[in-house]
Amino acid sequence: MPKLIDAHTHAHFVAYGDESEDVVQRALDEDIWLITVGTQKDTSRRAVELAEQYKEGVYASIALHPIHTEKSYHDPQELGAGGDTKGFTSRGEDFDYEYYKKLGQSKKVVSIGECGLDYFRLEESTKDKQRDAFIQQIRLANELNIPLMIHCRNAFGDLIQILKDHKHLLKQDFPGVNHFFTSNKEDAKELMELGFYFTFGGVITFTHDYDEVIKYIGLDKIMVETDAPYVAPVPHRGKRNEPAFVKYTAEKLAEILDKDFEEVAQKTVENTRKVFSI
Ligand SMILES: [Zn+2]
Repeated sequence: MPKLIDAHTHAHFVAYGDESEDVVQRALDEDIWLITVGTQKDTSRRAVELAEQYKEGVYASIALHPIHTEKSYHDPQELGAGGDTKGFTSRGEDFDYEYYKKLGQSKKVVSIGECGLDYFRLEESTKDKQRDAFIQQIRLANELNIPLMIHCRNAFGDLIQILKDHKHLLKQDFPGVNHFFTSNKEDAKELMELGFYFTFGGVITFTHDYDEVIKYIGLDKIMVETDAPYVAPVPHRGKRNEPAFVKYTAEKLAEILDKDFEEVAQKTVENTRKVFSI
């Protein structure tokens, strides 16, 4: 058993340049495992390639992120400057079921995600496209018999409705996890009734906004993540985040829940291993 698992990170993103292996190694040296998460075709493929370099402790998730259903969104930390050969490019993908199904044959692929809905930076025209892409990804997760890793921003009503409408396609025992959960107790309750788990990341080290919902959900349904290279926890706030920093989030989680660090570490590892079968 590892000490901790970073359940959602992007160790293969362009933000790390050629340091992805160093960043992974720093986590493994501290006995921290990780799931590195793709967001479109090329970042999903790269996630699998990185995970396959390691015998144990590094896993991949593949998907089309809702914001990449439109062309205008381009994050240089994720994709590079754009147009250069080293980076990736946001191209407003349609979900290519066969492409992701083929990638999903790797034993290192433990979930379909991050997929879901994002109305935060919404271009109204992509709403239907996001919904269609999400439903296809629910189907793919069902076909591959792996859980979902959901990204949802400002769209929980629609997201929960889609999940309820497709309940028969969700993985029976462990349907998945809602990554970096940003909503309220009511939405948490609905998602828990569907069997979902929740991750929390560095943001909980510098705001109390999520303390109440964390206490409500409870340790039995929580995992820790970094979402690196984004949202570094205190004491690295504002700098490039990396999987090894997940320990600061676990420490804060223990404080919020008034539990020992050891108990939080052990339980979040157990939850992550159960849901992703690792
Ligand atoms: Zn992410």
